Amino acid sequence: MIPFVDLKAQYARLKPKIDARIERVLSHGQYILGPEVVALEAELARFCGARHCVSLASGTEALRVPMMAENIGPGDAVFMPAFTFTATAEVPLAQGADPVFVDVDEDNFNIAIPDLERQIARVRAEGKLRPRAVVAVDLFGLPADYAALGALCAREKLFLLADAAQSFGARSGNRAVGTLAPVTATSFFPAKPLGGYGDGGAVFLDDAELAAVYRSIRMHGEGKERYDIVRLGTNARLDTLQAAILLAKLEIFPEELERREAVARRYDDRLAGAVKTPVRVAGMLSAWAQYTIKVDRRAHVAAQLKAEGIPTAIYYPKPLHLQPAYARFGSGEGSLPVSEKLSGRVLSLPMHPYLDDATIDRIAAAVRAAIAS
Ligand SMILES: *Cc1c(COP(=O)(O)O)cnc(C)c1O
Repeated sequence: MIPFVDLKAQYARLKPKIDARIERVLSHGQYILGPEVVALEAELARFCGARHCVSLASGTEALRVPMMAENIGPGDAVFMPAFTFTATAEVPLAQGADPVFVDVDEDNFNIAIPDLERQIARVRAEGKLRPRAVVAVDLFGLPADYAALGALCAREKLFLLADAAQSFGARSGNRAVGTLAPVTATSFFPAKPLGGYGDGGAVFLDDAELAAVYRSIRMHGEGKERYDIVRLGTNARLDTLQAAILLAKLEIFPEELERREAVARRYDDRLAGAVKTPVRVAGMLSAWAQYTIKVDRRAHVAAQLKAEGIPTAIYYPKPLHLQPAYARFGSGEGSLPVSEKLSGRVLSLPMHPYLDDATIDRIAAAVRAAIAS
């Protein structure tokens, strides 16, 4: 079986560097907020051009901490695409807010701005909930349209949070993810474009005061003194060991991003005309967390590929408004038609920087054969 994501090949390449960095942490013993955490935050901020980076325990915590800082809670409406990973919705819900699901764009998979405008107007007209925030998701690594979202959120006085769990490393024009929205959350889950060897995440922002609030929240709400608790906080820190591993991986990340782009281009070329390949948005560069095609008879195509030793994945088989845990916040089947249609057609192919050209060609040929059979 071809690996869907090849973390072993990456470790084989980085082993001496990663092992040395881990050993350094074990010998200094500062496992919590050690020097590697400070160094990683500086490197990540420099990498994307944001003024501040606050590292956190996971991508989920990177969504939670900004919402805690904004005091988002009961009576608040938080708008988000329905076609995304569950964490996007579970965080505002856990804060006591109501998730409001918005349909997505059929071509780029990201939040559909006309539907977002419609849903904000509907919630305002109903008058039961206060519109408070929009969480935009950069699905599969492609940034959402933050120019339009930023203007809309400024006009509507809504907090805009980028869920960039899948898109760290992507670019829009000459700006990198981390600087496209006022606050950007990302994840270092192992299978993400920049992944650690466990859970991790970070928030990027330019506002120094807000960054200090996030640092306080991740450390139980502490103030200037250690046991001076000035706000409701939590434990949401990134481990020093994960920071050490990420520092080693960040060194080769630009090269890996280039390789992901090359893999995507070869897939595009080999699959052209046979299936609907991912759309290219002018001026944007995806981080290619996933290479996702749209096919008819998906179960048949996936089964044929599996028989050839080629794994596939379905992100996501059900939109959030139809998930039992969130159904009471949605309007049921038929209410968000694009998300529902995509859930039945998307298929993600193996995608990682260590896929060689012969393997890409083999996968593409198998996809073509499966579609024709
Ligand atoms: C992975 C992911 C998250 C959550 O990140 P974790 O680090 O696993 O907590 C949130 N949103 C999206 C869109 C994701 O893909």
